[in-house]
Amino acid sequence: MMKAAAALPEDAPCCWLCLEEGPESSGQPLVRDCSCRGTSGFAHLSCMITNARHHGRQAVEDDGPYFELSTCFESCPNCKQLYQDNLHYEMLKSLIAFVDEEFEDMEYRHLQVCSRRDTIRNVDVENIEDRSKGEAMVTKMLSLMEQLKYYDHWTMGDIELEVSVYSAICDFYYNTG
Ligand SMILES: [Zn+2]
Ligand SMILES: [Zn+2]
Repeated sequence: MMKAAAALPEDAPCCWLCLEEGPESSGQPLVRDCSCRGTSGFAHLSCMITNARHHGRQAVEDDGPYFELSTCFESCPNCKQLYQDNLHYEMLKSLIAFVDEEFEDMEYRHLQVCSRRDTIRNVDVENIEDRSKGEAMVTKMLSLMEQLKYYDHWTMGDIELEVSVYSAICDFYYNTG
């Protein structure tokens, strides 16, 4: 469950994306975990995901399969700050789902690896369920890296990717103890 925004201000905030007011009408709480203040920046998680997918799709279309897609999912489009804690992790998990659904071809292996690398850095290792999701991400990343090596010309960029992937994996296992 997403954490509901604490102590809503007097004039009821609404979702800046669908413009509906809080949980009453939609059943979903408004969330916000960035630097937005007052009544700005509140949104439904599903609206945030839809919006991020829209921008992500556009960015990959414009910039190609090496675009750092996580930028569309992990920071607030209004104040540009990274989402915090649970919201950050929820958005990153939705990034993986998005990439798996829409970018499953070999040419997008890079995106598939990066979405997991960026997510595993934010796994709450104290949470058993999240930790096992993290372990699944590690397995998947390692197999994707093997495929990348097999199918692609191995470039400087790929070496940097590999280093960042292994460093994320090491951090994950260091944190899990
Ligand atoms: Zn909404
Ligand atoms: Zn914000």
